[in-house]
Amino acid sequence: WLHLPNPYGVPVAICAGDDVPLEHAAVDEALALLETARTLERLAEATPGYDGPDPRVARVALTPDFHKGAGIPIGTVLETEHALLPQAVGNDVNCGMRLEVTSLRADRVRPRLDALERRLRHLFFEGGRRIALTPVQREALLRDGLPGLLLAGGTPWQGVRPEDADDALDRMHAPGFPVGTAEAFADWIGSAGGASHDSVIGGIGGGNHFAELQYVSQVHDAAAAHAWGLAPGTVVTMVHSGSLSLGHQANTTALDALRAGWPSGLPRPGNGILPFLLDERSARARRRYLDAFGNAANFAAGNRFFLSLTMRAGLAAECGGADARLLYDAPHNLFWQDGERVVHRKGATPAGGHEAMAGGPYAMWGEPVIVPGSMGAASFVLRGHGDPRTLASACHGAGRRVPRGASARGNDAELDAFLREFRVVTPLDHRDPMVARRSDVMAAWRRDLKQEAPWAYKDIGPVVSSLRGGGVATPVAELRPLLTVKG
Ligand code: 5GP
Ligand code: MN
Ligand code: MN
Repeated sequence: WLHLPNPYGVPVAICAGDDVPLEHAAVDEALALLETARTLERLAEATPGYDGPDPRVARVALTPDFHKGAGIPIGTVLETEHALLPQAVGNDVNCGMRLEVTSLRADRVRPRLDALERRLRHLFFEGGRRIALTPVQREALLRDGLPGLLLAGGTPWQGVRPEDADDALDRMHAPGFPVGTAEAFADWIGSAGGASHDSVIGGIGGGNHFAELQYVSQVHDAAAAHAWGLAPGTVVTMVHSGSLSLGHQANTTALDALRAGWPSGLPRPGNGILPFLLDERSARARRRYLDAFGNAANFAAGNRFFLSLTMRAGLAAECGGADARLLYDAPHNLFWQDGERVVHRKGATPAGGHEAMAGGPYAMWGEPVIVPGSMGAASFVLRGHGDPRTLASACHGAGRRVPRGASARGNDAELDAFLREFRVVTPLDHRDPMVARRSDVMAAWRRDLKQEAPWAYKDIGPVVSSLRGGGVATPVAELRPLLTVKG
């Protein structure tokens, strides 16, 4: 644990072991973020008729993987009072991880990986699985999230199980944000009466988003792993995806409103972060943002569900008799408002303790915490302890080691070695001789893949040790990739 001294008197806790490299640019960015403490004071003074309580930055926690983001480090948990910061959520609203446990064993899946690779490429990228949704279902999803969608009626999609509706309530940190309208995205809902296939939902999204087939390679907490169905060799699917372009649109709505309503005498803050005060005056502008935010967050929860269903469909077709059930779905770009207190997480995942999980399936163990490594390294499932120093949060990945762009250089021999050992499914089949002959196409593909190669990310070991050592979360099981689908 480190404490970051700062002139604003804001408590800033960093959870990082000695062997986790601290990025100076990210520390500077965290310090710049704290200027918002001043912005809030000035904004309250400059806002005509503001008579609410003093808005403030109450505390900040940085997770072990924290690294430079665009204005606010990824891995930042920020608690405010009487203020809401859309930028502290990140643009990909409700980006998150979803983990399902299958009834399959790794030794049954390994001999079928070639067929699975073809099948998943077809399902994800060649139009093999377009999802039929009625306008009623689309609207239900945007307004009420995954439970809303699953209760909206209509033809069930292939692979949906009766448990899925209950699991959406019990096994998701944020199943939905009920909002009264889906107006911001009315164009997506459509006016036709019947079901139509959707080209939007069910997409992985590019870059670091993925759908991965993994197996339990090691158990660290035997009792919890047993309770969670994570015996050694068990095959699981992990999905990482967000709200595609919807979250971005919600944040644009917020920033447009904030710029338009900014007091004329007050200079814009140097760190570029524009807050809403939780006062009556900004209530209408805030409502529009909250509606768009809720719609985007709800969409993301549904999208991860469909990505998991697509993995179920691939496994069912190639491995037969496969069954899969949600272990947990958790967002890492979101805010939580409780009265005047707002906790924002940007690239940080909730890690509640057993008290926070009371009444649900994780009351005994604490909240499942999903920490992916990379497509060529281990990922982890842990159980949270609700540590107040991190505002009950943990990291949501190993974190980038090198900025995007820099990792594109990489080393071609390393990339070849990686591709021999690991299986990556992308829209382009690099083993197809017709494709392999197109050197320009292959060069672009290799450049993109290097951004996501294992060496682009930090070593997951020290990151997970920091969580354990700091008392934030305890490792339950370690997972290794069998196949990664990358948008
Ligand atoms: P984000 O992009 O949300 O900031 O972080 C996602 C995290 O997922 C990264 O920090 C990285 O550790 C991890 N990650 C990125 N790509 C992959 C992948 O293909 N497979 C796995 N298992 N983890 C990944
Ligand atoms: Mn994302
Ligand atoms: Mn993400």
